Amino acid sequence: MPVRGPAAQAVLAAALLAGCTPATAGPGGAAPAFVPASPPASPRAAAAPKPRLEKITYPAAGAGAFTAAGAEPAGARHGTLLRYRVLVEKDIKGISAATFADAVRATLADPRGWTAGGDRSFRRVDRRQPHDFTVYLVTPGTRDLLCQDAADGYTSCRNGDKVVLNVARWAKGVPGYRAGLPVYRQYLVNHEVGHRLGQGHELCPGKGRPAPVMQQQTLGMHGCTPNPWPYRDGERYAGAPGAYEDEVPPREGGSS
Ligand SMILES: [Zn+2]
Repeated sequence: MPVRGPAAQAVLAAALLAGCTPATAGPGGAAPAFVPASPPASPRAAAAPKPRLEKITYPAAGAGAFTAAGAEPAGARHGTLLRYRVLVEKDIKGISAATFADAVRATLADPRGWTAGGDRSFRRVDRRQPHDFTVYLVTPGTRDLLCQDAADGYTSCRNGDKVVLNVARWAKGVPGYRAGLPVYRQYLVNHEVGHRLGQGHELCPGKGRPAPVMQQQTLGMHGCTPNPWPYRDGERYAGAPGAYEDEVPPREGGSS
C-alpha cells in the first residue's frame, strides 16, 4: 500500500488501507443515495424533480457470497486496459449489482477520473473472465475479512487486487463531508481504485483548497473541501505524500 513517510507510523496501519468514505449520514442508514437516471418525466415534471432515495439495508456481517454484475461491451481503449469485476455481497439489500456497477463505471469513465491522462482504460468483465482487480461492495464484517488490516468495520480498503467498499459508508457516507452522498461515493471509488493504481495517501495542500482524491477524506478534511476527482481542469491534482493520525470512528451495526 501506499503512504508512508515520516508521519505517524502507528496510525498508519489503520489509516493506510483505510479511510475512504464520506457523505451525509442518515440515522439508521437511510440516506440520500445515488440516483439512477429517472424514467421519462411526467407532465408534472415542471416542479423540481425529487431524487429517488434508495434504502440500502445490510447485516453487520454477511455470509461472504456475492452477486456479480455482468460484463460491459468492449469500448474504445487507450493505453493500458484494466479489467475489473464487480461483486456485491448478497446480504446487502436495496442496491443491485447492476446499479452499483453503473455507479462505479460512471465514476471510472468520468473525464475527471483516472482515465483522464489517456494512458489507461477500464472495462468491467464477467466474474469468470480474466481480470486485474475486483470492486466489492460488502458488509462491515466481510470488509474486515477481505481487507486483512486493522479490521475497523468502518472504512473501506484496497488489499492487493481487491478494492473493497464498505456498504456502511456507501449507504451513509461520513459525518462532516460537505458534499452530497453521490460525491462521497465518487470519492470512495476513485480513492480505493487509486490505491490499486499504486497511489499512496496525500495531505491537504492548504485551507480551502480541494482535497486530493488520495487524502483520506473519510477520516478528516483538515481544512480542505470535498473533491472526488484525481484530475481537475485536465490536470492531475495531488497533494504531498502523507497521512493524518485521524481516529477511525467506532464500528457500527447492521442497518435495517
Ligand atoms: Zn486510502
